[in-house]
Amino acid sequence: MDSKASRPDSQLWSADDERAILDSIEQWVEKEVRPIARKFDQADEYPHELVEQMKELGLFGATIGQQYGGLGLPASTYAKIVIKVASAWMAPSGIFNSHLIMASAIERFGTEAQKASFLPRMASGEFRGGIGLTEPNAGTDLQAIRTVAKRDGDSYLVNGAKTWITNSGNGHGILLLVKTDPQAQPRHKGMSLLIAEKGEGFIVANKMKKLGYKAIDSCELVFDNYRVSADRLVGGVEGLGFKQVAGGLELGRINVAARGCGIALGALELSVRYAQERSTFGKPICEHQAIQLKLAEMATQVEAAKLLIEQAARKYDAGERCDMEAAMAKYFGSEAGVFCASEAMRIFGGYSYSTEYEIERYYRDAMLMCIGEGTNEVLRTIIAKQLIARHPV
Ligand SMILES: Cc1cc2nc3c(=O)[nH]c(=O)nc-3n(C[C@H](O)[C@H](O)[C@H](O)COP(=O)(O)OP(=O)(O)OC[C@H]3O[C@@H](n4cnc5c(N)ncnc54)[C@H](O)[C@@H]3O)c2cc1C
Repeated sequence: MDSKASRPDSQLWSADDERAILDSIEQWVEKEVRPIARKFDQADEYPHELVEQMKELGLFGATIGQQYGGLGLPASTYAKIVIKVASAWMAPSGIFNSHLIMASAIERFGTEAQKASFLPRMASGEFRGGIGLTEPNAGTDLQAIRTVAKRDGDSYLVNGAKTWITNSGNGHGILLLVKTDPQAQPRHKGMSLLIAEKGEGFIVANKMKKLGYKAIDSCELVFDNYRVSADRLVGGVEGLGFKQVAGGLELGRINVAARGCGIALGALELSVRYAQERSTFGKPICEHQAIQLKLAEMATQVEAAKLLIEQAARKYDAGERCDMEAAMAKYFGSEAGVFCASEAMRIFGGYSYSTEYEIERYYRDAMLMCIGEGTNEVLRTIIAKQLIARHPV
C-alpha cells in the first residue's frame, strides 16, 4: 500500500501553470456556474450541461495521473479549484470530488488491469463514479456495514443496501465497500472494496430529498443478487477494503475542507458587496461597527482555512503523513463555511430569507461539510489522538 508515496506528476506543474488553470476555472465559474446556480438549486435539477463542460475542462481527471489521461494536478492546486467553484455554488464540486476519490483509490490500490480499464475512462468523464460506504445502520462506524459479497466462481454475488451515495443516480458506478467475510475479527479484516458498475441487481431505489446540496443526486441503493466479476476486487486481495478507504481519507478531507472554505469565501464576498450597498441610519451598513466585526471575523476565518488547506495539501503532494493536518483543515474549513454563511444571513437581514437572493443557499449547503468525510466530532478525536501519538512523554 503506497499511502505515503509522493505524487510525481504534481511536480510537473509550475506556478504559471497553476495561475493559467485557475484563471480558466474562474472564467468558467463566472460565465457558466454562478448564473445557473439559483435556478438549478431551486429546481433540484441535475446540471447536465455543466458536466459536459467539466469534461472539456479536464476536471474529471484533475488528480488522476497523466499516464492515464488525467491532469495529475497537485492537491494544492486542486483545492484552489474546488474553493473557486464552491465559492459560487458548492454542489457541482461534488460531481467531480466523489468521482476523484474513487479514482484515487483505484490509482493507489488497484491492480494494473483495473487502472488500465478504469482510469482513462474516468479521466475523460466517460465513466463517472462515487463512493458507496454508508448504510442505513452504519455511517461513522463503517465496520458495522451489512452489505455482503459472497464469492461464487469467478464473481461475487452482492446483497445489501447503501444510503446517501452521491453521484449514484447519474453516474456509471461506485466504489462499493462490502463484507467478504462477515464473521472476521477484527471486523475490518473481512471488508473489501469492489468496483461496481451499474448492471442487473444494482438498483437505484430512491433519490433523497435534502436540505441543501441540491441538484446533485444522493441516492439509496439496493444490491439484489448483483453479480460483479472477481477481477473488480480492488487490489485483487480480500480484506483490505477498510484500509484502502482509510488511505483515501486524506485527499477526501482536503476536498471537503476546500468546499467549506469556498462556501465561507462566497458568503464573505456577497456580504462585502451587500454591506456597501445597503444603508441604514444614513450610511452604508459596512460603516456600523457591529457589521465590521462580522466581516473581519469572516475574512480572517477564510484566510486561516486557506492556509490549513495549503499545509495539508502540500504534505499530501510530498507523500508525507498528513492525517492530522487534513483533519484540522477539514474541521476548520467546514466550520468556517457554517460560520460565514450564518453571519452573512445576519448581514443580509430579512433579505437573507428570500429565495430571490443567493445567500440562503450557502446557509443550506454549509452544514453538510461538517458531516461528510468524517464528522467534525470524530475528526477532533483524531486530531487529539495524533497530537498525543506525536508528542509522547
Ligand atoms: C448529502 C449527503 C451526501 C453523502 N454522500 C455520501 C457518499 O457519497 N458516500 C457515502 O458513503 N456516504 C455519504 N454520505 C454519508 C455520510 O458520510 C454520513 O452521513 C456520515 O459519515 C455520518 O454518518 P451517520 O449519518 O450514520 O451518523 P452517525 O455515525 O450515526 O453519527 C451520529 C452522531 O454521532 C457522532 N458519533 C458517532 N460516532 C462517534 C464517536 N466514535 N465519537 C464521537 N462522536 C461520534 C457523530 O459525530 C454524529 O454527531 C452523505 C451524507 C449526506 C447527508
